[in-house]
Amino acid sequence: MSTYHVMQVTKPGKLELAERPLLDPGPGQVRIRVEACGICHTDASTIEGAFPIAWPRVPGHEAVGRIDALGSGVEDWRPGQRVGVGFLGGGCGHCEYCRNGDLVACQNQAYTGVHVDGGYAEVMIAKASGLMSVPDALPSVDAAPLVCAGLTTFNALRNSSAKAGDLVAVIGIGGLGHLGVQYARRMGFEVVAIGRGAGTAALARQLGAHHYVDSASGNVAEALQALGGAQVVLATASGGSAISDTLKGLRPRGSVIVLGAAADPAQISPYDMLFSNRGGSPKTVQGSLTGTPAAGDATLRFSVLSGVAAMIETMPLEKASEAYAKLMDGQARFRMVLTMAP
Ligand SMILES: [Zn+2]
Ligand SMILES: [Zn+2]
Repeated sequence: MSTYHVMQVTKPGKLELAERPLLDPGPGQVRIRVEACGICHTDASTIEGAFPIAWPRVPGHEAVGRIDALGSGVEDWRPGQRVGVGFLGGGCGHCEYCRNGDLVACQNQAYTGVHVDGGYAEVMIAKASGLMSVPDALPSVDAAPLVCAGLTTFNALRNSSAKAGDLVAVIGIGGLGHLGVQYARRMGFEVVAIGRGAGTAALARQLGAHHYVDSASGNVAEALQALGGAQVVLATASGGSAISDTLKGLRPRGSVIVLGAAADPAQISPYDMLFSNRGGSPKTVQGSLTGTPAAGDATLRFSVLSGVAAMIETMPLEKASEAYAKLMDGQARFRMVLTMAP
């Protein structure tokens, strides 16, 4: 095979099938035969042209496939090995943050499917420093959503201040939230799912939530306080107002962890950051962005061990436009995954 197919963006909103010549990976890179690639809401920034990037561009940062060629200087990865490629394309190894061990904050790191071509493709080239190792027990279509949505929720929870038995709330039962609820349950927390409308309650319990709060029919902060107050709130899909609404639902020293990228501002009362009606109540609002490649390995292993799985719908690569539209219209339950013909 000397060429391969991609679904590329050439102008805002348009994905088209194209053929590319097969290239060898450069130094520090691997070439991957992609088997599956999840569609993430963040792909919209490439497809709709919100990021200033060079076109044509192949989106996709939930890619899973097998290495078929190694560039020079690549160690510890081998041809035939199944790997995942997430949003962060691999640390540079020499910036201040990499040298300090903070690979997520690397200042020379490409975003997969944004600055470099991603996984809506039969073949992709990726930096070895960003790869995750996919366990044999995990089919590629199931692994794909876990290398972004899974890693994002798993990593935020395991680095949070919550300990087993603490109350943890997840706002939004969608692409991120339906995984967040499952991870929170399997990590041993008392789990509150916060959704919109009564219709989501049964699903939330099926995913492992002990409690369900309908944000459309009551005060979320009061509901959380009635349960003792949340140590951690994961804000997944909701905008700024959901952050403001849950701050009063935290215990003292609790945190709202922001995962969903939304532009609308949160209104935060400095008083609420420091006090409750009864006494001192310092709190934190923080962001969490995916995780390191090793945290990605841990996400995939933990998912196999504990039975956490994304609810997915698959479509062939050629139908990427349809699959993307379904996700953006809120019709996907809950992650769309593109598959490539073997
Ligand atoms: Zn993503
Ligand atoms: Zn770096």
